[in-house]
Amino acid sequence: MAIKPTTRESWLEAAVQELIPIFVKAGFAVPLCRVSCGFASTGARSGHIGQCWSTKASKDGINQIFVSPALEEAIEVLDTLVHELVHAVDDCQHKHGKEFKKIAIKLGMTGPMRSAGAGPILKEKLKEVAGRLGAYPHARLSVPMKTVTRSPRPRAKCRKCGFTVPMLKDFLHYGPPICPKDRVEMEAIGDWEIA
Ligand SMILES: [Zn+2]
Ligand SMILES: [Zn+2]
Repeated sequence: MAIKPTTRESWLEAAVQELIPIFVKAGFAVPLCRVSCGFASTGARSGHIGQCWSTKASKDGINQIFVSPALEEAIEVLDTLVHELVHAVDDCQHKHGKEFKKIAIKLGMTGPMRSAGAGPILKEKLKEVAGRLGAYPHARLSVPMKTVTRSPRPRAKCRKCGFTVPMLKDFLHYGPPICPKDRVEMEAIGDWEIA
């Protein structure tokens, strides 16, 4: 490849062209696919590194593949792309079932099918492809995992009988209520911080 792709999309498109012969050699035709860098519909925090959409989901009947922005190593991206292209070959009909497995195994993929990736022989081929494509023109996007820690809701609990009630934020400044049974001031539990 004389001119190296300079955008993520052109790199991914060139990658598909490089991967097609590997599929053809194994006896599979790769359908037309749109490929781009993007999060799976399950969300940035789902940990899903790729996603393929069937021809039925796409208005013009062309498969669409997304490779997570969390990936930046060319080999990782190619590995994920091969996995998603297997879904495209199957037109996402059988998820990771035996039809998917048949194609994956023939290509030289290993591991549990949900996360099936290149085995040693296929990996060597991917390294050659990566060499021809050059570095993936992208920088890893790191998504902070679960930044919001939910504080326990404010409640009031009677020390004597254990009767517990949730408190409304607007009335926290009234202080804990009186237990209707024991007529004693209840204990404030949970987060009573008045924001
Ligand atoms: Zn999959
Ligand atoms: Zn009580």
